[in-house]
Amino acid sequence: MSSFPTSTVLGYPRIGPRRELKRALESYWSGRSTRADLDRVGAGLRERTWRRLAELGLDGLPSNTFSLYDQVLDTAVLLGAVPERYRDAADPYFAMARGTEGLAPLRMTKWFDTNYHYIVPEIGPDTVFKLDASKPLGEVREARALGFETRPVVVGPVTFLLLGSALDRLDEVLGCYEELLAALAAEGVAWVQLDEPALVGDRTPGELAAVRAAYERLGSAAARPGLFVASYFGDLGESLPVLAGTPVEAIGVDLVRGGVPVADLTGKTVVAGVVSGRDVWRTSPGRALAALDAVRAARVVVSTSCSLLHVPYSLAGEPGLEPELRGRLAFAEEKVAEVVALAAAHAAARASARASARASARAFARASTHALGSAPGVLPGDDQPSVALPPEPSPSQERSPYAVRAAAQAAHLRLPPLPTTTIGSFPQTGELRAARAAVAAGTLSQAGYERRVEAEIERVIRVQERLGLDVLVHGEPERNDMVQYFAEHLDGFAVTTNGWVQSYGSRCTRPPILHGDVARPEPITVRWAGYAQSLTSQPVKGMLTGPVTIVAWSFVRDDLPLRDVVLQVADAIGQEVRDLEAAGLSIIQVDEPALRELLPLRRSAQAEYLEWAVAAYRRATSGASERTQIHTHLCYSDADQILAAIDGLDADVTTIESARSGARILGAVSAFGRGLGPGVYDIHSPRVPSAEEVESLLRRTVEALPVERVWVNPDCGLKTRTYEEVEASLANVVTATRRLRSALPH
Ligand code: GLN
Ligand code: ZN
Repeated sequence: MSSFPTSTVLGYPRIGPRRELKRALESYWSGRSTRADLDRVGAGLRERTWRRLAELGLDGLPSNTFSLYDQVLDTAVLLGAVPERYRDAADPYFAMARGTEGLAPLRMTKWFDTNYHYIVPEIGPDTVFKLDASKPLGEVREARALGFETRPVVVGPVTFLLLGSALDRLDEVLGCYEELLAALAAEGVAWVQLDEPALVGDRTPGELAAVRAAYERLGSAAARPGLFVASYFGDLGESLPVLAGTPVEAIGVDLVRGGVPVADLTGKTVVAGVVSGRDVWRTSPGRALAALDAVRAARVVVSTSCSLLHVPYSLAGEPGLEPELRGRLAFAEEKVAEVVALAAAHAAARASARASARASARAFARASTHALGSAPGVLPGDDQPSVALPPEPSPSQERSPYAVRAAAQAAHLRLPPLPTTTIGSFPQTGELRAARAAVAAGTLSQAGYERRVEAEIERVIRVQERLGLDVLVHGEPERNDMVQYFAEHLDGFAVTTNGWVQSYGSRCTRPPILHGDVARPEPITVRWAGYAQSLTSQPVKGMLTGPVTIVAWSFVRDDLPLRDVVLQVADAIGQEVRDLEAAGLSIIQVDEPALRELLPLRRSAQAEYLEWAVAAYRRATSGASERTQIHTHLCYSDADQILAAIDGLDADVTTIESARSGARILGAVSAFGRGLGPGVYDIHSPRVPSAEEVESLLRRTVEALPVERVWVNPDCGLKTRTYEEVEASLANVVTATRRLRSALPH
């Protein structure tokens, strides 16, 4: 078996440095281009990535890290797990991902504790696993034709089946993986990477036995490439000795989030993830080299802690960043250069037993600067100095009990039963995006832009009045993104120009960079929400992003505990709550869609997280008077683990995703004694739900929950949809609600 390359990355961004894939996908979906056009763009992006990685000096190039939508969906296709109902669709792959006129898409949820969403494999009694290796083989051949030997990356059998809740199908699936290994070996592939991030969570003895069985069996396959099992997002814990006891040749460990492995790895290659794939900070060479040095293994390979999918492409796209900050940053390309430089420094240190860590650090600085062909500002130092301010003591007021608040709010708001509302955003039109671009380019004045935003707010208000919704929103037209907008208006954050990170499918966000102490120099949303309220006699709901979500969807400083960072943000949002109230808004929604996302993967760390996360939310909202109705919004299907925390937020109304996950969530949240708006349709798909469909879902809802507590709303914001879809859908929602209302006893 050939030895593992000296440096590698576990994966790479694929959306394109200028979001080329996004544009190609959306053009294909709308029928403006063909599948061949789309595939050409994909091939171009793969070629560009391999060439760039090789240019930067990376030794071990991955392949099959490209995806047209999602790598878990790709794995389902690889294994033949395509549900029957999609097989006749014009394009079954995108039918599963996005649905069609007549078919709902597969469920989508967050990839471990990241903001990346994967498509949940649907594995049922009729699933017949059957290998289709065309994608990984195709990429290997494509790279080879360009002169690159690559290591295909595939989601491993245990993680795949755990994500699909079907670990009992391990035997069948392993048959496919065996065939895959044989096909790769026949192709002359030297190494394959099987991603098993599920192994960094708590695993039962039965699951650990499955890990052992899987890798014993794959390891003893007659013809196969070298097996590299990659873990990431934490420590392998009890899974490490299990893996170490199997014949796999290489094990990937995350040395940024996890500790140096203590298990006996003297017979293995350890692929050591010392360059973080989850943040944008330059790597501390001292710490990285010390970690590399501490690993006891047959061989140590320098790598990233996880795929670089979770960071933007390159600092080259960010000429606007302030030099001092820029000098502390590394995006994907810069991180690849760090991996290469660390591999060289580590090898040099090995070669000269007397070389000090300091000399290696200097070698690292020279090499990483050299590899990028420019001096990116300050040289990487060791840990950044801490400049943290301790959070102010919490404003100690608590809101009055719910019953008191509810009575005050009912008297003030006078809403009908089953009040209808939306989650905040309305379609972000091309004109709005163009107007923002024009402001940035200097061809539209700020005042001109603000007039357009106001015009859009007026349009959104009139649409809602015409549709007959009860609680209106201003539509968030001023926001490019629910986190970035706040980051742009708070001190302590920087925003990027091209720092796109894939969220799901063609959707990307530009996570802001939280690098200093947070403060709110002036009100942020008050003028827009106040303007909306001035246009209508119906209640308008002010719309804020919660502290946990702002932090979860940003890259945050690592010199301060996450808790303290979140509390600083909570205080800024709390000031905004009070200002909205003072401006006459009677309902304020503070969204926390990322509450679940930051939940630590290990149970032992979860209680502490939930405690401070809930405290931060209450700190942001407890300044509101009892008459002000506080809403919150969460969107994920697996809320079960954090129900007590959601309840602990103590919001007067909670709107939550449920259309995609079915009625399961209803039972779970029915215990809350406060207002609840389980989403009545899935906004992630362009499909317009019929009034009948919404009505039947609503009927089930009022059977499960006391009717006086039920709100009617879509399951998330509408910004990714078109006005046409939104108006048709909401009209059906209002029709269904009215039918149900008229059937209610008076
Ligand atoms: N208020 C936000 C919106 O409507 C909430 C988005 C979200 O939950 N992700 O867009
Ligand atoms: Zn949502």
